[in-house]
Amino acid sequence: MSDGRTAAGVRTARELVGRSKDPVLSEDNPFEAMMARFDFAAEQLRLDPGIYKVLREPEKQIIVAVPVQQDSGEIEVYTGYRVLHNTSRGPGKGGIRFDLNVTLDEVKALAAWMTWKCAVVNIPFGGAKGGVVCDPSGLSIGELERLTRRYTAALIETLGPDSDIPAPDVNTNERVMAWVMDTYSMHKRHAVTAVVTGKPVEMGGSLGRREATGRGCMITTREALKHLGLPLRGTKVAVQGFGNVGSVTATLLEQEGLTIVGLSDKTGAMYNPNGIYIGDALKWVHEHRYLAGYPNADPISNDELLELDVDVLVPAAVENAITRKNAARVKARVICEGANGPTTPGADRILEEQGVFVIPDILANAGGVTVSYFEWVQDRAGYFWDEPTVNERLESVIRRSFHDVLSVADRYEVNMRTAAYMLSVERVAAVHRLRGIYA
Ligand code: NAD
Repeated sequence: MSDGRTAAGVRTARELVGRSKDPVLSEDNPFEAMMARFDFAAEQLRLDPGIYKVLREPEKQIIVAVPVQQDSGEIEVYTGYRVLHNTSRGPGKGGIRFDLNVTLDEVKALAAWMTWKCAVVNIPFGGAKGGVVCDPSGLSIGELERLTRRYTAALIETLGPDSDIPAPDVNTNERVMAWVMDTYSMHKRHAVTAVVTGKPVEMGGSLGRREATGRGCMITTREALKHLGLPLRGTKVAVQGFGNVGSVTATLLEQEGLTIVGLSDKTGAMYNPNGIYIGDALKWVHEHRYLAGYPNADPISNDELLELDVDVLVPAAVENAITRKNAARVKARVICEGANGPTTPGADRILEEQGVFVIPDILANAGGVTVSYFEWVQDRAGYFWDEPTVNERLESVIRRSFHDVLSVADRYEVNMRTAAYMLSVERVAAVHRLRGIYA
């Protein structure tokens, strides 16, 4: 990691760039927290000031007007964004969200987040993100389809399997990806499946994608326990969030012999010291939509779930779940960040003092983007893998990445989060040094 690094510290680089335009760092803003972690990693790496400047700025920011004829006949014009943060290692990769809270600043930060996430697992993608400012719950299916198609058409020169590959994110799903793929393909006059990931399996999606993020959480948790010399069998786990990531993580950890004693969703939390059988909880949610009322565990508060006497805590629901207010009461030895940004920097410091081993989000939940990469590879090859092959290859990427991060943590005597950022920032910086600056 030392090749080509200059002796000039990043403090100098920061001074060169100037921080005055940045908003005051707020502990509760996960995107600012991410940028602060990037800065810290850059400082530890003594990153070249020029490369620091390059990596802090997104390569491309696009704002498009998206006119949509409503079912009523009226025309509404939405604002859409697409940001390519860094594509030095490969095409931009990142989701599209439809939400009223979408802002250009948020999309910029999320695109940078994708750059680090792709680099930490060493897949040949850069970071991108997109969004449309809208309330999808107020749109009919037809309006949603027209919005998606017009947004895609507006970005037709940017998107592409070699340049920018969207995926689902907040309020977008397989169906939205199918519309993106169809619109792009109609413009190109042939089917281009590799332009998006997270598609239905029938049209080039990958087997194993749905479970991939939770599978990555299981693998990183298992590796962390092995590293710490802790057993799997009987190890107690609490999982916050019982959606895609939380429910798959809980199912797979249970299969590995761990005991899930605490579970929660937005309707409440529950605890059973003897273990909650995940198949049973899933059946309950299938029939009743939410965990509330589940009979085979005691109800507790959502706050209490995070403070349970467990070995492993998996926050897999929301940002800022663990803050400086509750971090000191967390008893888990290992935290596996299934969600993006569940721990604030203030909480990080407290957890580190308590000796908690935190598997950072950009590593813990990178299973999803890894299988998105596999989907793109399969689409481009026109050859599809069976599910055991997808899972084996995912296992190998995530296990290797976990140990890559661990080696950086050991070598530089930093925690896993700083190590993950150092590894990914250095991987992107190394490509910039090799490619040079085109003039
Ligand atoms: P989801 O919508 O399927 O599930 C979210 C779950 O969290 C639901 O069970 C919901 O009831 C619960 N929840 C919401 N607020 C809560 C609260 N205050 N307390 C406890 N539970 C609460 O979403 P998901 O796809 O599982 O994503 C969860 C997190 O993981 C998000 O941060 C997401 O960005 C991140 N993530 C997801 C993926 C993926 O592939 N799905 C990949 C990377 C990161």
